[in-house]
Amino acid sequence: MQIKVQLSLARMSGNEQKFIQEAFDTNWIAPLGPNVTGFEQDLEHYLGSEKNFVCALSAGTAALHLALVRLGVSAGDEVICQSLTFAASANPIRYQGATPVFVDSETDTWNMDPGYLEEAIRDRIRVTGRPPRAIIVVDLYGMPAKLTEIRSVADQYGIPLVEDAAEALSSHYKGTPCGTWGDYAALSFNGNKIITTSGGGALVTRSAAEKAEVLSLATQARDAAPHYQHTRVGYNYRMSNICAGIGRGQMCVLDEYRGMRRINNLRYRHALAGLPGITLQQEPGADFYSNFWLSVLQVNPSEAGVDREELRCLLDAEGIESRPLWKPMHLQPVFADCPYYGAHVSETLFDRGLCLPSGPLVEQPDIERIARIIRNRVQGNQSDVI
Ligand SMILES: *Cc1c(COP(=O)(O)O)cnc(C)c1O
Repeated sequence: MQIKVQLSLARMSGNEQKFIQEAFDTNWIAPLGPNVTGFEQDLEHYLGSEKNFVCALSAGTAALHLALVRLGVSAGDEVICQSLTFAASANPIRYQGATPVFVDSETDTWNMDPGYLEEAIRDRIRVTGRPPRAIIVVDLYGMPAKLTEIRSVADQYGIPLVEDAAEALSSHYKGTPCGTWGDYAALSFNGNKIITTSGGGALVTRSAAEKAEVLSLATQARDAAPHYQHTRVGYNYRMSNICAGIGRGQMCVLDEYRGMRRINNLRYRHALAGLPGITLQQEPGADFYSNFWLSVLQVNPSEAGVDREELRCLLDAEGIESRPLWKPMHLQPVFADCPYYGAHVSETLFDRGLCLPSGPLVEQPDIERIARIIRNRVQGNQSDVI
């Protein structure tokens, strides 16, 4: 059996050890410390420090949760969320006792369709008598959503926007980085994301005062008193100084890793060019710049003569890990009772989509091998037909 080619393995830059060693040398093993502040500053610098105030947290999910807490989302509220996403985008809505309202994707970015968004808002106002409390838009697989269009619909109805940029750090839309478009934006540094802290996330906020509020909530909401005094419910959501040390090391290579993922995407594009029924997710125009966190295929079974699942099994038999797209939230048993607006775009993307090995450890020969397996199956099938 050949060595397994994995979907998205982390890779260390070599600098992480230095920051972790510093933490040990100075005995900053306890939660907070200079690496946490340093990592936040690195991210602020990367995103543009005048307008972005970053809170380093224990997970991307925690970041989304605190955004909803700060927006006052509570029981009885509705929150609009992109349906085609990872469950972590939607779960925090339920943590607050609110109801997710799912919105379909559009065919070009695969992200929230601004038209269905507006339809959903109008209909929720008609049904419940008030607009949803927030909108969660996702930049899926690193591809920016149509953020100006989404923003203008949100503004038209006065609804705050949360950008789930967990997969899109280093992507940008119209020259402005993903992770800076919402009233709040969430980032993730989970093990498989473009950079990792071994597990962690961040909430990007719009002011220093807002950052202070979020950090207070993330550290059990202690009041200013010599004893432990609390006037609101808090959370234990802060990133540790050790994890932040890994993050500082990873920031040194973020743009390099983006380059590797983009090159791998280009290699797939060349290696699979001209195959009937096989297309890769692509930037819909010059406004979109994706980090191509994952390279993702669409398999049209009637044109390719093979479906996504058969290709996945063929690759798996060769020790190559690939994975279907996120299953849309409106099809998940846990969210079966939630409203949904759209058609079947996200369902079709899910039925036909396959995520390919894309990390910085994937190399040209791996991609050639993967493309050969796909090509042989699709073309073999074609010659059967002829
Ligand atoms: C990874 C991910 C998250 C959650 O981040 P964690 O750090 O794993 O909690 C949220 N949304 C999307 C779209 C993700 O891919």
